[in-house]
Amino acid sequence: MRTATLYRFSLPMETGVVLRYQRLKTRDGFLVHLQENGQQGWGEIAPLPEFSQETFEQAGEAAMTWLKQWHLGVEPDDSELPSVAFGISCAVAELQGKLPEEADYRKVPLCNGDPDELIVRLSKMRGQKVAKVKVGLYEAVRDGMVVNVLLEAVPDLVLRLDANRSWRRVKADGFAKYVNPDYRNRIAFLEEPCRTQEESLAFACDTGIAIAWDESVRDEGFKIEAQKGVAAIVIKPTLVGSLAHCRQLISVAHNAGLEAVISSSIETSLGLTQLARIAHWLTPATIPGLDTLELIQFQLVRRWPGSTVPVKGLDELEIAWCS
Ligand SMILES: [Mg+2]
Repeated sequence: MRTATLYRFSLPMETGVVLRYQRLKTRDGFLVHLQENGQQGWGEIAPLPEFSQETFEQAGEAAMTWLKQWHLGVEPDDSELPSVAFGISCAVAELQGKLPEEADYRKVPLCNGDPDELIVRLSKMRGQKVAKVKVGLYEAVRDGMVVNVLLEAVPDLVLRLDANRSWRRVKADGFAKYVNPDYRNRIAFLEEPCRTQEESLAFACDTGIAIAWDESVRDEGFKIEAQKGVAAIVIKPTLVGSLAHCRQLISVAHNAGLEAVISSSIETSLGLTQLARIAHWLTPATIPGLDTLELIQFQLVRRWPGSTVPVKGLDELEIAWCS
């Protein structure tokens, strides 16, 4: 006997969370709950505006269609909508006991502008020191200086940088010029420095600063392969698709000698804790990029260990569909 429920959620964001072009006021999505033979599984379906191809409404429709079939005893194919395929595949994996419980809750602290604040945070951090800096928002020269200051101040620090394709080659070079050549190998990678893949590859070869693909991974026809100067690929399951598909991408990346970094698309605590489990399971040597919990004002159903953000329970959610 199978039962399925689809819950709808809408959680207020902290103020000032801006995606590419718009302020995100609420995080909207669905939770899937599957039950069969005394077992159960949960998953989160939350297309991210401006990043997902599908809308919230389309995701809801596709989820209901899938759940109706599953309830009748069919094993439907994965949805073509990545957020739906990901959320449902997590619920199925939990139901079947295939998603290990152990998780990687380590965080990569994010530097939002003030290097001194990050240096203090890092001094309290134990184990491997990895931090992330968003670059490309302000002057490239300033970005270069901030990165240099951090690497100089914290000798065992490794940085991940992200430029979100914001630079032309000249600007990217302007950035590199301010980073001491002796420190460049402590930049684990710089995500998508330039507007095109060709420019980014040439930048990596010429400067010795390793790069990573993020947006490119979701481009039509993109192939994961070993390329000079490329160190990693970023995998955002909500934007990519089912757990099986993510696993396959990770294995191709590892076989090509690339690191695969599981990252969030601003999921709620329910989705984030599952991403932490997936990361521990499939990319145990790599700290995932999941430092987005505090962008949403509430956690949802499951708590992120140690977080004091208030939790919304199931009884506060609306049921969108149930079998
Ligand atoms: Mg990125």
